Amino acid sequence: MSDAPDVGELTPPDRTLMGPGPSDVHPRVLRAMSTPLVGHLDPSFVEIMDETQDLLRYTFRTANEWTIPVSGTGSAAMEAAFANLVEPGDTVLVPTNGYFGGRMESMARRAGGEVAKVDAPWGEPLDPDDVADACAEHDPDVVGFVHAETSTGVLQPDVPEITAAAHDHDALTIMDCVTSLGGVEVQVDDWGVDVAYSGPQKCLSCPPGASPLTLNERAMEKVTTREEEPRSWYLDLSLLEDYWGDERAYHHTAPITNVYALREALRLVAEEGIEERWERHRILAEALRDGLHSLGLELNPERTYWLPTLNAVRIPEGIDGDAVIEHLLEVYDVEIASGLGDLAGGIWRIGCMGYSARPKNVSFLLSALADALEEQGMQVRGPH
Ligand SMILES: *Cc1c(COP(=O)(O)O)cnc(C)c1O
Repeated sequence: MSDAPDVGELTPPDRTLMGPGPSDVHPRVLRAMSTPLVGHLDPSFVEIMDETQDLLRYTFRTANEWTIPVSGTGSAAMEAAFANLVEPGDTVLVPTNGYFGGRMESMARRAGGEVAKVDAPWGEPLDPDDVADACAEHDPDVVGFVHAETSTGVLQPDVPEITAAAHDHDALTIMDCVTSLGGVEVQVDDWGVDVAYSGPQKCLSCPPGASPLTLNERAMEKVTTREEEPRSWYLDLSLLEDYWGDERAYHHTAPITNVYALREALRLVAEEGIEERWERHRILAEALRDGLHSLGLELNPERTYWLPTLNAVRIPEGIDGDAVIEHLLEVYDVEIASGLGDLAGGIWRIGCMGYSARPKNVSFLLSALADALEEQGMQVRGPH
């Protein structure tokens, strides 16, 4: 037919993804995604679900029965956490030290929560004493915080102190570990985290589509005994329990191919060993950080709060940050990102996550960056 759009075969560029996510996908994960589809209630898929849940528990360091991949991206898992845990009228304490804390606030409000804030400047972590003071002042029902702030490159230390402060007031805690799970240490059970969620396309070498979520029994009890049903039908965990729990009844069609992908990505985590994987990220990110220093660049956060998986780099005086990003993409097929919110225009964000956390990627990025800076007349000290 003459009105049929003339669209060519799909030929995406072959990028090296060193931004804040998605990161490079492992070839084994891509292969798993091209295996045949089965039904979402097929006995073979039920087994795949069980295995994926076991692998998720290993990666989260938890024994929580309620550990599932949520259909959708990291924000879907985030929304599942807030929509189910927050009842209308609940007080929800959320941080405002980065972009994703702001998203938590918005989700908590939409779920009917009264939001109280605990502040820290963008680029700094939350002070557990401030969280404790805010808990004493507001007596919250839920406390949310971001473990690895992708907008600022800050790793939140002292997580057990934050959860203890929340538990002193009988509040449940929700931890965002989208940019830490599988990349830096996350200990859901040991740190007393009640609910944690993540995304597959950051440190898990997997495309977006099915996102890790875990809830302990105390959190699940609140979900199953709440008076008003959650405003989201799709993400209602008491309904999803019929599918991911023992009954295996239809709720919605699981994104089967994305579950295959996540299972393979998590198998890679188990093969490598979770602690070895944290170590690999640290070593590669240290090499990246040292290389950036030798180019005359500085990281934005203080060393103590450095997040290996996401490096927030200050754009030097006189350098056009966007032109550097463009040069990297056009000449080298390398993706990095600019800053968000309070840090927009001031930083670049360079990821070192999952399959992107390899010596090859790090040295490629550094030499490409050196060229992009020289292009703008900057005297680059190294590394070549
Ligand atoms: C990427 C990210 C999200 C959101 O995940 P999407 O997959 O983009 O929906 C949430 N929190 C943090 C910290 C992130 O980095």
